[in-house]
Amino acid sequence: MKRVLITGGAGFLGSHLCDRFLAEGYAVICMDNLITGSKDNIEHLFGREDFLFMHQDVTEFIHVPGPLDAILHFASPASPIDYLELPIQTLKVGSLGTHKALGLAKAKGARFLLASTSECYGDPLVHPQPESYWGNVNPVGPRGVYDEAKRFAEAMTMAYHRFHDVETRIVRIFNTYGPRMRLNDGRALPAFMGQALRGEPITVFGDGSQTRSFCYVDDLVEGIYRLLHSNEAEPCNIGNPAEMTILEFAQKVVEMTGSGSEISFKDLPKDDPKVRQPDITKARAILGWEAEVDLDTGLARTLDFFRAKIASGRAEPPVRAGQEG
Ligand code: UDP
Repeated sequence: MKRVLITGGAGFLGSHLCDRFLAEGYAVICMDNLITGSKDNIEHLFGREDFLFMHQDVTEFIHVPGPLDAILHFASPASPIDYLELPIQTLKVGSLGTHKALGLAKAKGARFLLASTSECYGDPLVHPQPESYWGNVNPVGPRGVYDEAKRFAEAMTMAYHRFHDVETRIVRIFNTYGPRMRLNDGRALPAFMGQALRGEPITVFGDGSQTRSFCYVDDLVEGIYRLLHSNEAEPCNIGNPAEMTILEFAQKVVEMTGSGSEISFKDLPKDDPKVRQPDITKARAILGWEAEVDLDTGLARTLDFFRAKIASGRAEPPVRAGQEG
């Protein structure tokens, strides 16, 4: 049986990857320090013989017994609120954590896949963004801790590939949504759905003319699964090119929920990208991949999840800052 280690495996994306790799017949080791991840996302897997949870910080030395075929490095705070709250841990997990995970991949002869991000393109001056675009990132702004950590992580991954011959893959993930997002992670979709379901005003930042392109989580997981099994070591965008303004997105959520919520405009956060849309020419060509779940379907599934979550009354733990620094 093949064995895969997923760091950040108790997070939104990590937990969906755990499900997918188990379904494909892999044994899965899920590693997480549970700062932004949650056991709620993986509790349905406890008790399975092919699933192991390790409560560990990936920035410390990692010891995993036995062979590993692949390592998916998904550990990181990943929403603007989380990485503003945890700036040093965000930098550490992207740099030290990536180094540790690559060292483990080298020691085990495992293939390594880095979860990178469209944030590498910063506030882009090229639209849509192809992998060949180097980006427009402010290193010293509030988002710099995430953007630069991921850019460093990409550089480190390529160095292990070139210098140590580790088989590496880099996925640049664009905005993704779906069940298991946290209501309190500050991202647009959980914020809007939570507000709409509670009948509160919808907080649109700026005038809402900034654009994003939202991908349903199952599509993203399919793209990542294909990329891991491909031969592509250079970065590859995975995202849904269906672009819309944030105001349109907010209106869509209001309409779907049947909420009477009004739109309330707030200040635009610093360095908030004005546009974002993946150029997926490469993913189409080398993976035969493109997103298949349309926005209505994806939003309906996500809304079911949030409705059930709110109805359960189960509180979401606040993000626990571990040792900053
Ligand atoms: N946004 C918003 N209201 C919110 C949360 C986010 O208008 O309550 C905006 C945010 O300023 C950004 C977009 O929605 O322009 C997407 O934000 P998100 O945090 O989901 O992801 P980002 O793409 O900025 O990393």
